[in-house]
Amino acid sequence: MQGFPRARNLEYADPRYPCMNQRFVSEILPPPELPGDSPCFLFRGNRLAVRRLEAGAAVPRAAELDLARLAPLRRQYLGRADGLPCFSFELNQLEPAGLELAELRGLWGALPEEEFWLAGRAFQIMDWDRTHQFCGRCGTPTQPKAEERAKLCPACGHFSFPRVAPAIIVAVVREGKILLARARRFPTTMYSVIAGFVDPGESLEECAHREVREEVGVAIRALSYFGSQPWPFPHSLMVAFTAEHAGGEIAIDDKEIMDAGWYSPDRLPRIPDRISVARRLIDWFVEVHGQTAAGR
Ligand SMILES: [Zn+2]
Repeated sequence: MQGFPRARNLEYADPRYPCMNQRFVSEILPPPELPGDSPCFLFRGNRLAVRRLEAGAAVPRAAELDLARLAPLRRQYLGRADGLPCFSFELNQLEPAGLELAELRGLWGALPEEEFWLAGRAFQIMDWDRTHQFCGRCGTPTQPKAEERAKLCPACGHFSFPRVAPAIIVAVVREGKILLARARRFPTTMYSVIAGFVDPGESLEECAHREVREEVGVAIRALSYFGSQPWPFPHSLMVAFTAEHAGGEIAIDDKEIMDAGWYSPDRLPRIPDRISVARRLIDWFVEVHGQTAAGR
């Protein structure tokens, strides 16, 4: 444990973590009116309607839209951003005039960052609504619950809530080097920290130990909470940890991992972009261990 850096505490309004949106308040009961400057999150399939600007993009405001003509299949109330009610809408076939339909993940960096994360929230609620129109147990059409974001089956009483799949992500450090792996699912030659979904019945800590053992065959210790991040692609919650190497040499599992190694701060491979908590873990490692390496 000697000299092992502790993860920094996260402040709720830390500008480095814009998904922690202090200006948004989740609400269930929609207001009677939709003000003209309310942001509207329109989805067709998994794509979001945005207005392209000279630099970047913007989510359209209610006054810009002819919602009667667009005739959305469903709409979902999200809550208020800066006091303005926000809705998501599920479109059928019509293209919203003057807008472009774009994959949400590709809009990072184009939309204002708080709007991007709000769109992620809108997507998850829209997606849950459209995939839970019928009871998963008996097939009866579901009804929204009045004061909770939940759906109730009037026939059998089964409840459903928006889906959130927790996943762990862990930065393992050994003698000033970080464990990075190249997963088969990555589109490029990118390397990142180890991540994986939590199994039913498993704690976050157990999951972190298991994933690192399964994917690269090493044991860890001194697991320490780092932070969390909603990951709306499609409905994960990433829970990030730091840990120390406790034993074992890298032995990759050929199913999910193609390559893995220990990397010093000044010799990193290609790493994820700044959207993800994975990158923030790696940045933390460089911040803490880069100085140590430079000081030697
Ligand atoms: Zn039912």
